[in-house]
Amino acid sequence: MLKGKVALITGSTSGIGLATAHVLAEQGIDLVLHGLMSEQDGAALAEEFAAKYQINTLFDNTDLTDADAIAHFINKAIASLGSIDILINNAGIQHTENIATFPVGKWNDIIAINLSAAFHTIQQCLPGMQKNNWGRVINVASVHGLVGSLQKSAYCAAKHGIVGLTKVVALESAEQGITVNAVCPGWVDTPLVNDQIAKLAEKNEVSFTQAKHKLVTNKQALPDMAEPRQIGEFILFLCSDSARSITGAALPMDGAWTAQ
Ligand code: NAD
Repeated sequence: MLKGKVALITGSTSGIGLATAHVLAEQGIDLVLHGLMSEQDGAALAEEFAAKYQINTLFDNTDLTDADAIAHFINKAIASLGSIDILINNAGIQHTENIATFPVGKWNDIIAINLSAAFHTIQQCLPGMQKNNWGRVINVASVHGLVGSLQKSAYCAAKHGIVGLTKVVALESAEQGITVNAVCPGWVDTPLVNDQIAKLAEKNEVSFTQAKHKLVTNKQALPDMAEPRQIGEFILFLCSDSARSITGAALPMDGAWTAQ
């Protein structure tokens, strides 16, 4: 059913985005791959996907802090592959520090990449979805869209913001065959969390593996990080016809973090 649809996944050169790209490509979904990678490496990645899965692909390395560049990126993607049927706002960054010394530049970048970029991509992709009377928007939020944690003021503000954005766009799109949801993972084993593990290992004078275990069990009942592919498979389900009545939801995948 999804074969031949076009998905755009921001931040699909690494972690959750890259794993999701593989999951969708396995279904024959054409892909707009995106992330901070050189043109040359990105073109090679797009070619690798096209050859392996026999799909159409495109790569773009637009910096999501630049709203005008986002507009150009989406226009180019639509012109090249037709309308975007599935939009996955996944790109994100993290910085952990108490609010007193939190750098303004980090605040601005986190809000721009983790929140405002999704506003811009949604605004540009919705008209095509409305024309087709079908669309899926999946925002990769976080458990931090639902609860707070120390030292994550910008990240929690952005992730709570994207949960709010998700609800409003879902309400506005409900009669147009478009579902809009936020996925809220707990710990996922990707490069994004490595800095936090390294900081904890240094502070407690323990190994990287011990620090990783401590970081997870401080928050989650389930003592393991999720694998990126698990998030991708959940996203695939949200794209399916079976999930057509799931919209406006913020869906935890958090090892019972928010059950407590
Ligand atoms: P990652 O660091 O592996 O990947 C991040 C991606 O975003 C990369 O492709 C990178 O190039 C892209 N990116 C970063 N800054 C960018 C910019 N300025 N412009 C364009 N692209 C940019 O991270 P990940 O863990 O896969 O994170 C993906 C999403 O999942 C993020 O929104 C993150 O907040 C969310 N998330 C992650 C976890 C976790 O534990 N890893 C948990 C919950 C939510």
